[in-house]
Amino acid sequence: MKDPNCIFCKIANGEIPAATVYEDDDFRVILDLGPASKGHALILPKEHAANLFELPDEIAAKALVVAKKVGKQLFDGLGCDGFNLVQNNGEAAGQTVFHFHMHLIPRYKGDTVNVGWKPGELTEETKAQVLGIFGK
Ligand code: 5GP
Ligand code: ZN
Repeated sequence: MKDPNCIFCKIANGEIPAATVYEDDDFRVILDLGPASKGHALILPKEHAANLFELPDEIAAKALVVAKKVGKQLFDGLGCDGFNLVQNNGEAAGQTVFHFHMHLIPRYKGDTVNVGWKPGELTEETKAQVLGIFGK
């Protein structure tokens, strides 16, 4: 299903042009217009899903294979030193476009890209609460 109001549906399906580095039946991979680093790419499924929970399992599985393939080409082609795979779900997590996508962010030694966090502390209370969700 495509969402007529969704910009990434239009880009993924070729209705709006984008710098495409990879395409197959299920995905288009484009360069991000506001890149965190040289080569920052977005993996877009062609079918609309607002987030990971809406993504069909088959497409979710394939997305990681595309990330591996395109990530390796970026890694080798750009001579980067590492890369981050980032996927935001929900406004609180930084999602701004509500069509599932994965960010492939090439990293270069000494760059100033920030995808990190300040480590907290796993308390006994939180551990028990979260394990309880899983019946552990
Ligand atoms: P989010 O914050 O939702 O995980 O990431 C959305 C990303 O999409 C941002 O990095 C932003 O720069 C990128 N973006 C938003 N609109 C467009 C667009 O029209 N074309 C391209 N190529 N990237 C876009
Ligand atoms: Zn969409």
